[in-house]
Amino acid sequence: MLFSSTKSDKSMSLSLIARLIKPSPTLALNEKAAILREKGDPVIHLGGGEPKSRAPIEAMLAAANLLNSGEVRYAPADGIPELKKSIIRYTEEFYHRKVYPENVIASSGAKQAIMVALQAIVNPQEEVIFPAPYWVSYPDMVKLCGGIPVPVLPEDGTFYPRLRDIEQRVSSYTKAIIINSPNNPTGAMYSEEFIAEMVDYCERKNIYLIMDDIYHRLLFDKNKTVSAYDFTKKSVENSNLIIINGVSKQYAMTGFRIGWAVANKKLIEAMANIQGHQTSGPSVVMQKAAVGALNGIQSSVESLRVTLENNRNVMMEYLKSFDGVKVSVPDGTFYCFADFSAYNKNSQELSNLLIDKVMVLTVPGKEFGLDGFLRLSYCGSIKDITEGIERMKWVLDPNSPNELYIGERKLVRDWS
Ligand code: PMP
Repeated sequence: MLFSSTKSDKSMSLSLIARLIKPSPTLALNEKAAILREKGDPVIHLGGGEPKSRAPIEAMLAAANLLNSGEVRYAPADGIPELKKSIIRYTEEFYHRKVYPENVIASSGAKQAIMVALQAIVNPQEEVIFPAPYWVSYPDMVKLCGGIPVPVLPEDGTFYPRLRDIEQRVSSYTKAIIINSPNNPTGAMYSEEFIAEMVDYCERKNIYLIMDDIYHRLLFDKNKTVSAYDFTKKSVENSNLIIINGVSKQYAMTGFRIGWAVANKKLIEAMANIQGHQTSGPSVVMQKAAVGALNGIQSSVESLRVTLENNRNVMMEYLKSFDGVKVSVPDGTFYCFADFSAYNKNSQELSNLLIDKVMVLTVPGKEFGLDGFLRLSYCGSIKDITEGIERMKWVLDPNSPNELYIGERKLVRDWS
């Protein structure tokens, strides 16, 4: 039992929850990249989860203005009114819904918004379903609430779940379903039909539907942003939809740590109560920056999107020439999830080999619920993508030349 402890527990032991939680593999990889770089190793980080462009100038000016005033105080637990106003406008533009300040909470990143939402709805032993492969944090976030994560791998072997895949796993314990489209790690964007079906299904079953829309403007091939609110006739107050979004990815503002949730006011109030005791409101400096980004000129989002689409095309081109690797073309985000099982079915071993031999960082598919795959990011430079894949080929292709030069460094194959 998750919440019972035994007599043999020692006073110095960690809680049951603490023992259940794994470190975030993607954050650990960033640390590894930083350590190797510090040593002067020519690392290529294809495991990253953040765009490399600059934050919008309006964001930086807004934050700087507040800092200059020297009056940096506590913010309300659910966010400053100015930011809520910007989120309300954003919701009207992208979700075609009029919402009110009571329907909005700003958090320290979309991560905290999801976490607080789960804490507000999940009881111990209740289940939260999400399609696999999934974002690495979902299982641990659910466990932090004492809940049970239920990943669902589409039966047809694609990255596009169908309602029936999900339906089969719903039980009387199911409290919520999390949908992340376009998806980290696959880049798959789910069809409007699927989202509509999920909205309808969750309404009929009285299950919360958490839409993690953090990548919803980073779409390729003329795909258009989808709003789950378009598929319900219910008012926001009667709706079980929880919309999650933030500035991290679309405005290249990962370090600013501002995300938000939009939902019915009873839930938002509960989330604000929890957040109020956890962290209080997010830093007011960063909230101002988010207002700057949301209200400023939006051209940086489009230019990031175009860059990422081009990067995606280059990565797909390079991967195509990689015998044995299978990849489904991402519809959005800055990730692809490639099947390397022909080389090694153990993705952790494969990822370690790539770091050890050629200093290329990738995230093992196992972390996303599917072994034999690697998540490769294309949010870096074209040079990182092309050189990274070339190095990977050199390691994995048995017909590669015996030596590889990285700058002045000569690497020699000492494995078969
Ligand atoms: N959801 C998904 C699917 C993500 O990939 C991430 C970041 N990697 C987040 C949420 C969290 O974003 P934030 O930086 O706003 O906390």
